[in-house]
Amino acid sequence: PLAYFVERIGGDFVAVNIMVAPGASPHTYEPTADQMKALSDADVFFSIGVEYEDVWLPRFEEINPDLPVVDSSEGIMRIAMTEEHQHEGETEEEHEGEEEQEEGLDPHVWLSPANGKVIAANVLAALSELDPSHTDAYQANAESLIADINQLDADIKQTLSDIDQRTFMVFHPAWGYFAHDYGLEQIPVQVEGQDPSASELAGFVDTAREHNIKVIFVQPSFSTEDAQAIAQEIDGEIAFIDPLAEDWLSNLQSVAEAFAAILAP
Ligand code: ZN
Repeated sequence: PLAYFVERIGGDFVAVNIMVAPGASPHTYEPTADQMKALSDADVFFSIGVEYEDVWLPRFEEINPDLPVVDSSEGIMRIAMTEEHQHEGETEEEHEGEEEQEEGLDPHVWLSPANGKVIAANVLAALSELDPSHTDAYQANAESLIADINQLDADIKQTLSDIDQRTFMVFHPAWGYFAHDYGLEQIPVQVEGQDPSASELAGFVDTAREHNIKVIFVQPSFSTEDAQAIAQEIDGEIAFIDPLAEDWLSNLQSVAEAFAAILAP
């Protein structure tokens, strides 16, 4: 998703190298040899504050000591995780370190149009500073992107205007900012990043019944087994929504439609 912002604003002037490929997890990602090579020639690195960066940014700086690292999420107010959780593939130790650093704050900042505008402004400022001769083009591209985001925000509000239920259940808690912005409530199934125990699963079945939930959302790259188990118990189904789809703008609209389809009366 971050590549989407850099591509839109950088236009013809900026070559973008995507670090985390679609379908991969940004929490456990490791760069390939080709990407490390590309990094040694890179002019700027945009970070967004996901776990792999803590481990890899110091190594990127080793191979390219002059590489400017721009925090594209600077200025975004981070919200608390809905449920303390550990990301899939992490060891306990990594998780403890992460907790101290993040204090339970939600890293999925890119899944909100409002935050998207902050990211766009940060990318614009960085590109304009590093490449001042193309500032006008970056500015124009950023304005066009912001206009599209404002339209997206209006479309999402319209899409969600008829819902009468506000609570949805999702395996991995990626949608905290989206829920926060649009008055929804996400109930994550993952408990501290671990697959739920049998008794926790039973608890989620009760919660789902209580909230009249019929769909458990899952995402590519995570196991759907637990979500399926809950869905079966409540006579419901699972549905995929993707927090990492390449076309950020149309993806958020699709997600709003997926929520509306199950939350409408
Ligand atoms: Zn995540």
